[in-house]
Amino acid sequence: MAEARGGGARPSRPPGLHAVVGHEELQARLSRSVERGRLPASVLLHGPVGVGKQRLALWLGQRLLCEEGSACGRCRSCRLALRLEHPDLHWFFPLPRPKGASTPSRLREKLEESRLEELEERRARPLAVRDFDGATGLYLAAVQQMKAMASRRPAMGKRTVFVVGDAESMVPQASSPEAANAFLKLLEEPPEDAFILLTSSRPGALLPTIRSRTLGLRVLPVPTGAIEGLLVEVAGVDADRAASLARRSQGSPGRALRALSEESGAARGRAQDLLKAALSRDRVDRWSFAASLPPSGARGDFDEVLASATELLRDLLTASLGRPELGFDPGAAAALAGAAPPAHALLRAIALVEEAREEAAGNLNPQAITAGLLVDLGSALESP
Ligand SMILES: [Zn+2]
Repeated sequence: MAEARGGGARPSRPPGLHAVVGHEELQARLSRSVERGRLPASVLLHGPVGVGKQRLALWLGQRLLCEEGSACGRCRSCRLALRLEHPDLHWFFPLPRPKGASTPSRLREKLEESRLEELEERRARPLAVRDFDGATGLYLAAVQQMKAMASRRPAMGKRTVFVVGDAESMVPQASSPEAANAFLKLLEEPPEDAFILLTSSRPGALLPTIRSRTLGLRVLPVPTGAIEGLLVEVAGVDADRAASLARRSQGSPGRALRALSEESGAARGRAQDLLKAALSRDRVDRWSFAASLPPSGARGDFDEVLASATELLRDLLTASLGRPELGFDPGAAAALAGAAPPAHALLRAIALVEEAREEAAGNLNPQAITAGLLVDLGSALESP
């Protein structure tokens, strides 16, 4: 359904949300409102695409539910919120319309199922860029689901919090305004102790009646340094690359992560070609792959290809040990699995690629390194 391209963003820490970056002032302001009991029940966070509006709304939800009253990050409520598992913090976002739902109640069920699946994905890979094929929306059935949840008592604390991302997609067509109207009713008659936190990068597309019932807060672009920090510390990107991605991101961590995953996607494609060339007994294939690499320079890119090759070999290894679900990208590895080399051959191959990475760091010519690597890999992987 959705395609996740996590790129070099394989999480090395327990899955969960990364810290909010670059919105300290707004966080302090929101914190003060919560402390004084002055936060309105409906808030609209608006600002450019990818600046972290939904992340900020999730933080505010955590803040509202924290047992210490501070988004401490340590209490049970905070830990659940950070793992997207808090029973009173509900995150809604546009989803594709489920197929084959014959009745409205079936549609609501299916939509809720796919929301929970999507949350599962986001929990497992919080930095991955999520894309759906085709149109998505926040449908009437989702709003009805929210209403039903809002009418229940909170499961853990005193409050229920809804985060509604891309809220403008509640009006996919002017001819069917039901979702927006149903939502309007929810805002007009808010359940006691429920907070509704909307986010939108196109607030002008929201119904004016919805806008007028929310407190609008502008979320500003994130300083470049903060985006760099996120890329280095959380996504594990090296400093030079992080600096360049951050500069190009126009203050949007989301855009930087997208560019990162696109670059890594390209590198993975090249890594797949590299392993195919190694597995092919055809010397022409091997030489033409080596020749397709730049004779010098672009060392960062070449290292990324080799790093991706190691990742693919690891995926093949987990598959050969009967645990493909532990792999990073089982689909990509499956494309090579026709050869299914044994585990010891794959371990040898990983060592060879890592040696090549060290050579590449020592400024040797990528073509020469690759030509040698392909021959060594070929014999390692063909060994019985
Ligand atoms: Zn807490």
